[in-house]
Amino acid sequence: MPAPSELTAMNWPNEAGRAPVTQLESARAGITTPEMHRVAEREPHLTPDDVRREVAAGRMIIPANTIHLGYKLDPMCIGRASKTKINANMGASPVSSSTEEEVEKLRWADRWGADTVMDLSTGGDLDACREAILQNSTVPIGTVPIYSMIIGRKLEDLTYEVILENLEHQAKQGVDYFTIHAGVLREHLHYIQKRLIGIVSRGGSLLAKWMLIHKKQNPMYDLFDEICDIMREYDVSFSLGDGLRPGGLADATDEAQLAELETLGELTERAWAKGVQVMIEGPGHVPFDQIEYNMKLERRLCHGAPFYVLGPLVTDIFPGYDHITSCIGATAAAYHGASMLCYVTPKEHLGLPKKDDVKQGCIAYKIAAHAADVALGIPGARDRDDDLTKARAALNWEKHFELSFDPDTARAFHDEDLDVDTDFCAMCGHDWCSVRISKEIVEFASGKAEGFAPEKKAVRSKALTAEQSEILERRDVLSPEEIHKLAHKGNKSACHSDNVPEAGQAIRVQQEILEKTEAG
Ligand code: SF4
Repeated sequence: MPAPSELTAMNWPNEAGRAPVTQLESARAGITTPEMHRVAEREPHLTPDDVRREVAAGRMIIPANTIHLGYKLDPMCIGRASKTKINANMGASPVSSSTEEEVEKLRWADRWGADTVMDLSTGGDLDACREAILQNSTVPIGTVPIYSMIIGRKLEDLTYEVILENLEHQAKQGVDYFTIHAGVLREHLHYIQKRLIGIVSRGGSLLAKWMLIHKKQNPMYDLFDEICDIMREYDVSFSLGDGLRPGGLADATDEAQLAELETLGELTERAWAKGVQVMIEGPGHVPFDQIEYNMKLERRLCHGAPFYVLGPLVTDIFPGYDHITSCIGATAAAYHGASMLCYVTPKEHLGLPKKDDVKQGCIAYKIAAHAADVALGIPGARDRDDDLTKARAALNWEKHFELSFDPDTARAFHDEDLDVDTDFCAMCGHDWCSVRISKEIVEFASGKAEGFAPEKKAVRSKALTAEQSEILERRDVLSPEEIHKLAHKGNKSACHSDNVPEAGQAIRVQQEILEKTEAG
């Protein structure tokens, strides 16, 4: 496996005599900014000085456009020393969605834990949509500026002036990070012929076409220094795009992808020398066994700049379930080196994600990020898991739901079969509930953790909220009447071990209830 680079952003210092503008420049000058303090509050295992050191080294970024900071942005960080972050993509397309819908999706993604959001709109009023998202967002917003550069004009008419004007405009609006596909070079394009699926990045394919039409180098590469100057002024971070990322397992880790990654390493050094924060975008579709290598290669070539990966999908034959195929790869990626995971929804490859797809994608990726953080031993990362285990061991359903990432779904699924507070659930039933039996075995501590045991007094199960009822309706299995036939509300079941401490008696009580239910 490639060894980590020994170089950091400190090896590419600012030009002498310039006052610090960006978080990177402040950090390298030894200044701990208010944003670094806020990041440390949100990452309790890090001190403000830890944050400053990581930012100074280029291993962490704080994507916080100075304009967006004037709205509602709550500063966060992306880097290996912090918790793994997730990004949700959204955006109107020419055939679907509107500005209101996108703002609603932004709130929804925030509700489900997205740490950053990318506005990838390619249709509707792009400018108004971006403005509305920036005004309403507490999380950093990223864009792929080339999309808006070609709205209303032919690709071949894209000029250097249009590129720089558009970037300046979006930076002034408050966008926190730009995906710039400056690493796709003209000399890389011949590698594509060997691929099964060519170029799957929208930005990458547009720029490749531009280069072929104009017989010139990638304009983003040629303009890189000027782009850095614009981005520095507002502290917009680079998300250096992977325009040649593989679009299928067969194309993973090929010459095209690796040649571009090498160029991204060179661009990282140039951006750092200009004082601009950098993260690197990564693949795509990668067989599970190649993920570790990919993560470590990036860490070497880009000197530890945060790696922001899309998935990767570890198999190609499950359209409709790509949030799962990709979150398996994302977990491995985060464990081996990625700092932010770009979610994939069940609609990937098939259509524009709707509200529920956004939720499914966010949850899959929160699972991936959290699983990696636990495995990496980030201090405190497992605390909530341990608390939930204690509540589970105590058969304290209320606390179990409360500690769940999605309490509505957890409660709805539990209550679907058994909506009473009892010391077992419908999965195994009273007699076979190993957790209940363990609780009764006095030699085991399990189920007796202080503060986790349920109230001795029967607690009435809360009625399902509208959202929880909707979850059950969608499942379309049991009607509320059927559920209520299975259990009654308000008291602990007659067979609850608080009422009948002896198992034989509990079985007799259950039998009686069953007979009465069948008769009734
Ligand atoms: S019945 Fe089975 S699944 Fe339910 S709490 Fe007991 S052991 Fe767990």
